[in-house]
Amino acid sequence: MTEQDKKVERYKQRQEKIKNNVDKRVAEAQEEKGLLLIITGNGKGKTTSGFGTVARAVGHGLNCIVAQFIKGTWDCGERNLLEMHNVPFYVMKTGFTWNTQDKESDTKAAQAVWEECKKALEDESIDLVLLDEMTYMVTYGYIDLKEVKTALSNRPKMQSVVITGRAAHRELIEMADTVSEVRSVKHAFDSGIKALKGIDW
Ligand code: ATP
Ligand code: MG
Repeated sequence: MTEQDKKVERYKQRQEKIKNNVDKRVAEAQEEKGLLLIITGNGKGKTTSGFGTVARAVGHGLNCIVAQFIKGTWDCGERNLLEMHNVPFYVMKTGFTWNTQDKESDTKAAQAVWEECKKALEDESIDLVLLDEMTYMVTYGYIDLKEVKTALSNRPKMQSVVITGRAAHRELIEMADTVSEVRSVKHAFDSGIKALKGIDW
């Protein structure tokens, strides 16, 4: 056997081993349940990922609802599209901004959306709930962490939930099945480029 043949053989063996491991893990993954997913981090792509998941689910004929905290009153391409597919949207009406002035009215607005979310989280007919930018509501104390955890724990077994937003609370991360952190490598905004319709909203 030449050196080259030996290399090829070793490569084959390695690939075989990887394949066996993957096959074994696929066979072992038997549990079926709805998932709690968190998309967090400072990079761009959290909300678009959440909506991508909703689009995927709607494409399979599943029932979805979307709750938008923070940017609810802004124009939103995904909303325009998904409402055509009868996906209900619950949005914060006061147009909460980063430099919010009035904690009381913001809390009220967040609570109103959260009430709708709680109903959805008890509803077996809903397959997927997107809680967009919800992490901030918990961080700022507009919505009680314990209440969120209880609603998530008691939701129907096959219902999935996607939570997006920066700085997800440690306890939510612990609770989640899948957590992805989007890291910013660079962002056009830092080069002075304006937010773009269809890309940024
Ligand atoms: P997207 O909605 O595009 O998936 P996102 O949900 O990950 O973004 P957010 O923190 O919700 O990000 O911010 C939403 C807006 O801020 C979008 O217009 C997005 O392009 C912009 N943005 C996201 N990340 C950054 C960043 N690292 N620097 C500057 N702007 C950003
Ligand atoms: Mg977002």
